[in-house]
Amino acid sequence: MAKITFNNEACKGCGLCVLACPKKLLQISSVSNKNGYFVAEITDMAACVGCASCAMMCPDCVITVER
Ligand code: SF4
Ligand code: SF4
Repeated sequence: MAKITFNNEACKGCGLCVLACPKKLLQISSVSNKNGYFVAEITDMAACVGCASCAMMCPDCVITVER
């Protein structure tokens, strides 16, 4: 099973990863980091296929994909 992790402090809440996920698994959360940005989160890790589209799209290299 694939797993993704976020470096929350580097996230700017831009939402590009949300648009990139073909399974629509990502959203902007209600949690903000120390810079005041609401960070991205995954809604259903078990459904992630590990395609890494989100990680490739992220301009700040926030997302790490393991599979
Ligand atoms: S690895 Fe692919 S399926 Fe998993 S969250 Fe990222 S874009 Fe979505
Ligand atoms: S693309 Fe990167 S910086 Fe933008 S919301 Fe997603 S994880 Fe955060």
